[in-house]
Amino acid sequence: MTIKSDHYNAGRRAGMHYNSFSEYLRDKYRCRVLKIPINAGLSCPNRDASIGREGCIFCSADGSASPGMSGSMSLPEQIAAAKRAFKRSDADTRYIAYFQAYTNTYAPPKRLKELYDLSLAQEDIIGLMVGTRPDCLPDDVLDLIASYRRDGFELWLEIGMQSSHDKSLEFLRRGHTNDDTLDAISRAARRDIPVCVHLILGIPGETWHDMMRTAVSLRGMPVSGVKFHHLHVIRGTGLEQMYREGRMQALAMKEYVSILCDFIERIPPDILIHRLMGDREENTLVAPRWGLNKGTVMKAIDDEFLRRCTFQGFLMDRDGTDT
Ligand code: SF4
Repeated sequence: MTIKSDHYNAGRRAGMHYNSFSEYLRDKYRCRVLKIPINAGLSCPNRDASIGREGCIFCSADGSASPGMSGSMSLPEQIAAAKRAFKRSDADTRYIAYFQAYTNTYAPPKRLKELYDLSLAQEDIIGLMVGTRPDCLPDDVLDLIASYRRDGFELWLEIGMQSSHDKSLEFLRRGHTNDDTLDAISRAARRDIPVCVHLILGIPGETWHDMMRTAVSLRGMPVSGVKFHHLHVIRGTGLEQMYREGRMQALAMKEYVSILCDFIERIPPDILIHRLMGDREENTLVAPRWGLNKGTVMKAIDDEFLRRCTFQGFLMDRDGTDT
């Protein structure tokens, strides 16, 4: 299922340069909708030795959890704590249960159903988002996720694609190929499950052209959302060692903003952009430190689109890998 709506055209009229997921949620539900990151205590085949023990080169011991998430709390406690932290005013707010940390389809369907159902039983939850690896989506798990599809409910499957290039997946120590990603996306699409792909920009060894080829590859896929992440170096990861030994460099903010805008100009305008950059706590972030200034980066992205007078899909009629 790809989500087609008038939302993007309305956004363009309002001066937005890209199809923002948060604006889409606000338009659809007419209230504030926030994602609650959940650590369900599941593991990952790239950590428990099924595929590998060290994990992906960028992944911290917390399984790429959001800052402040605690797996020591029960699932209802995590949701309640997040709601308290998000409470800013009396604004009408609904929530999406976002299974984020580790691999959230890495358990028998019966166990997964218990976890998903428990999250949905909490008050004001109007959606479910499941983050996972492409090689952890057997048909029975996809059938389970599809069973949550219904009108007025926000269902998303977030697949860690990262790049369309196998050499980059190897560098990242992902332990899966791009074919695994394509297979998972097409089996999810057959079940009308909206898919968001997680992508990383700035992978060492990837050229600008490589990144644009990944952008162009999205055009033919039944993908409804994209989540961007700049490659950042987290304390305690394999990447930190490489960085400290001078074997990799992080992108400068200006480079990231430019590449990101180049990418967004090449992808279909109806793909919803869930996120534009990664997020980390100061004490765990090694580099690049500009990642701590989210507001500055977001403004720089808007300014860059304004300077170019372009927007999402602006270069859709080109093959997209030219300069
Ligand atoms: S698949 Fe996810 S949880 Fe597992 S090591 Fe990689 S990033 Fe971390």
